[in-house]
Amino acid sequence: MNISNRNAIELKNKNVIVIGLGKSGCGAAKLAHYLKANVFVSDQKNGIELEKNLSMMQSIGVDGEIEGHSEKIYDADLWVISPGVPQNAPIIVKAKERNIPIVGEIEFSSWFTSAPILAITGSNGKTTTAHALTEMCKTKETHGVLAGNVGIPFSEKVLEDLKAPDPKRIFILEISSFQMEFILHFQPLVSLFLNITPDHLDRYETMEEYESAKLNMIQNQSPDDMIVFNADDPCFENRFDKYPSIKIPFSLYKKENVIFSVNQSKIYTQENDKLIYLNEIALPGKHNLSNLLGAATVAHFMHIPNKHIEKIMATFTGVPHRLEPVVTLQGVDYVNDSKATNIDSVKVALDSFNKSIILILGGQYKGGNFKELLPHANNIKAVLAYGQAHQTIETALGDAVRLHTFDNLKDAVSKSQLLASPGDIVLLSPGCASFDQFDNFEHRGDLFKQWVSQLEEQK
Ligand code: ADP
Repeated sequence: MNISNRNAIELKNKNVIVIGLGKSGCGAAKLAHYLKANVFVSDQKNGIELEKNLSMMQSIGVDGEIEGHSEKIYDADLWVISPGVPQNAPIIVKAKERNIPIVGEIEFSSWFTSAPILAITGSNGKTTTAHALTEMCKTKETHGVLAGNVGIPFSEKVLEDLKAPDPKRIFILEISSFQMEFILHFQPLVSLFLNITPDHLDRYETMEEYESAKLNMIQNQSPDDMIVFNADDPCFENRFDKYPSIKIPFSLYKKENVIFSVNQSKIYTQENDKLIYLNEIALPGKHNLSNLLGAATVAHFMHIPNKHIEKIMATFTGVPHRLEPVVTLQGVDYVNDSKATNIDSVKVALDSFNKSIILILGGQYKGGNFKELLPHANNIKAVLAYGQAHQTIETALGDAVRLHTFDNLKDAVSKSQLLASPGDIVLLSPGCASFDQFDNFEHRGDLFKQWVSQLEEQK
């Protein structure tokens, strides 16, 4: 099948094979089915979730298989693959040998919409920024819809839009580097680059490879499209020179060429008007201020009125599991930052508060040096280290801070109450993956919140 001309792609009666039957695979299969392709879904793994997804597919007339790929997947005009499938997987190599065109779910979905796409990428802050920008883009004139790596497949939203077209639609997409591996025509009107730190290096051999996966996002941008980038991150310096797009920086410190500037007390516009006082912004932390500046800069180019941007900054309180306030108990604030799965995220969490902190670290060690936390540890009253990584954390920090170790998070939570005094913060910002004891970071955060609320009952 020839997919070189985006506008001439016709799926009717074509054999579309969807590899991977997670959320985005199901979304892509439904979209292809709606567009009258012969769809076949195939997943190498098994499990209850996949069984459910397969029977849901079969109920709408899409056939498929789980627990392994059969030869049927090579009887294909097109492959749509899920972000979990690595580029060098044997099936991908084989499909390439047979000249089957392979695209990712984001690329595939983008063929079937002409609504503007605002795409957000970076190592940290994508979800928060994507939610904030979506709120900013919800006005009378613009109907922002969030999708992508936030757990809402783009294909699902494109299908909804095909069924009920909305000329005011704007798509805000959170993009992970994995989603950019099989890109051909994808062309966001605005690409927002937040920051790059060495996370996810397990899948990429080098930092350059990782960065270049992220840069795929802009490979098709034209001189009318925009790159909005964080000028405080040295990784982006001169990084976009060879791209024709309009480049707009945002920054906590620099004033040159930015749309919004920051001083001691406020964010102000190019006309020197106040946008908002810093103490009126709902989200804590400098990193979130940076995220909001990125979102506001993009919103500005979508002609969102400053009044509305200001309103969102004053009211948007963030996304669960990211510096999420849980409860204040006997004067102690409990904060759930379960999403902080790397050491850089713990640093930003520590820098976000002026209060004395009891920090809960631990889980499955992902690499990195916990000693790097020390320059950010002025406010730390104690570290409670739990789970698989507790020994690594103790070795790194045991000499420098008061440190207690635990087998599990629940015991750490109980101890935190004993150690905390009014005015303190108990902060779960684990700096590790959750998989040693939980399904995922959401599960860890939800149980943390549950155990904290049980402390309340024990009072
Ligand atoms: P992502 O979707 O990119 O993982 P989130 O918005 O979920 O990002 O935030 C995850 C964590 O990353 C937050 O809990 C916070 O600790 C950290 N973080 C958020 N924004 C930034 C930023 N701009 N710079 C550094 N760290 C950040």
